[in-house]
This record gives sequence, C-alpha cells and structure tokens, in this order.
Amino acid sequence: MPELPEVQTTVNGLNKVLKNHTVALVWTDYFVNTKNKRTDTIKNKTFFERFQKEITGKKFVSAERRGKNVLIHLSGNKTVLIHMKMTGHLLYGKYERLEIRNSKLEIKEDAKKTKTSERNYEWISSDKHLSDPFNQFIHFLIQFDNGKSLAFSDMRKFAKVTLVETGILRDHADITTLGPEANDLSITWNILKDRLSKKPAGKIKTVLMDQTIIAGIGNIYSDEILWASGIHPERQVKKLSDKDVRNILWHARRILSHSITVGGDSMSDYRNIHGERGGYQNSHRAYRQTGKTCQKRGCSGVILRKIIGGRSTHFCSVHQQ
Ligand SMILES: [Zn+2]
Repeated sequence: MPELPEVQTTVNGLNKVLKNHTVALVWTDYFVNTKNKRTDTIKNKTFFERFQKEITGKKFVSAERRGKNVLIHLSGNKTVLIHMKMTGHLLYGKYERLEIRNSKLEIKEDAKKTKTSERNYEWISSDKHLSDPFNQFIHFLIQFDNGKSLAFSDMRKFAKVTLVETGILRDHADITTLGPEANDLSITWNILKDRLSKKPAGKIKTVLMDQTIIAGIGNIYSDEILWASGIHPERQVKKLSDKDVRNILWHARRILSHSITVGGDSMSDYRNIHGERGGYQNSHRAYRQTGKTCQKRGCSGVILRKIIGGRSTHFCSVHQQ
C-alpha cells in the first residue's frame, strides 16, 4: 500500500503537470460488477454521476497530501479525495479508449458512440512506462483540456474516490480522524510520546501504523523505522524509554525523507505518475529481507518474519529488543 513517501511523490508529480488545466471528461467503471453499500464514493453509480457533473469544467488548483490521502483541489470549492489503498496509483499521460478484440488492440471509435459493451474497451497508453503491466488496471480517469489524462490503476479495486467541498475538507471524517503527519518537523519527541501514549498497551509496530495516532506510516516504513531504532516491533508503548521515542522520531524523519528523494518504494505495485518505479526498495534493511543477515554493523542477527496485528512484520533476531 502506498505510504507517506509514495503519496507525496504522486502529489509532487501532479503539481508539476496539472497546473491550470481544466477537467474535460470523467470516466469510471468502479460501479460495474461491484457490490458497494456506501453511497459516498464513485463506486456508487448515482454518486458518480453527480461527481462527474460537479467536476467537469473545473480547473486544477493544486494537489496536497494528508496522511495517505491524495487531495486534488479544483476551482469551484471542489476537492477530489483519493485513498489509494492496496494497489492504487495515479498515472498521467495520453490515453485512448480502444477496443480489445482477440487480445489484440484495434482502434475503434469512441465507446460512447457505440452500443458495444463497456467491457470490450480499455484505456490504453502507448507510453512505454504507462504500459507496464502494473499500470494497466484503469478504473477511473479524468481527461484534461490538453488531451492528457489522469488515470487511476487499481488492480484490486479497493481504493476510495470521493468529492468534498474544499472549504469543509478539514471536517471530513477521513481527515479529521488523522493524527499529525509523521514527517512534520514541528513534532517534537515529547509530542510523539504523547501521541503514542494514547495506546500504552499497544505493540509499537501496530501503534505506529495507526493513522489516528500518527499519519502516513504503514507496513514498510514501520519495519524500517523500528529496525533502525533497535526496537522490537512487539514492544509495548508503555515500555519505551524517552531515548527510544527520540530514536523513532529521528529515524522516521530520516527514512521518510530519504524515500521521498528516491521517488518512494516500488517493491510492489507503486509507480509515480509517469508510470516509473521509485528506488526505496533498494534500501530495505528489514522489510521482506527474511532470512538475510542483519546489515547493522557488528550485529550477528538474521531478519525474521512474524505476523503482528495481522500484518507481516520483519525484524532482526538480535539487535531489536
Ligand atoms: Zn541486527
């Protein structure tokens, strides 16, 4: 799942390419063959029709990250809120609606002008990176007035896309429940200690991933931060010393900022808006390093894997206590 550095990489990309472009067309197939009880996301057909009407003709103002949410601010007091969940990522480029026939592409007229079933058509880009297999599960697309599109690839269809009035965004349930940003430089170790202490009996790995305590950290970065801090992922919060909390804060800042500079982590599905991989997977010391010798200097441990709080966790058998 995209975490803080990946969402930030996406947002930085959007701010570079979308300035002043106007929404020309909005498309989704999220509501096709999905049973979704919620009526406040585009997986609901009625909601989508309103969404489509409200954002068409609006101009891109800016993109922003809050926790793991992408916020796309448009003119007219509209903000598109996207939570990418497991496999979602936003892509930008030239897309065409093409008919798929016998596994071979044939250019046909626009799907809207034919009565052929939607399922025979797919959004295809001829761009080398955008045609990467991980980028081909397009379930939502916004086309802009320059002919280019923001396409959302989401293999498992778990993502959430909704529309919020910009003016009341801060009060939206998905935003108001979030803790402070994990990379916010105004967070001191005392503030972090105070946040963590809301779950004194919790295991530190689980509490670090709790978005209401601190926002932006998920499975990859919690493993990496705890490895660097020398703290066992199952250690209870109330058993952390002040030094431990200082270490967690220091390494969280260092690791998250390093990952943003290399374009995030692409060990799994994540790609930037141009469909390209980030580089943080090359810096893993714990995450998915099971069985490898620990890379901490002087440590004789090996990396173990254990399910903690329902999540696959990786840590050193020796130096993380
Ligand atoms: Zn070690």
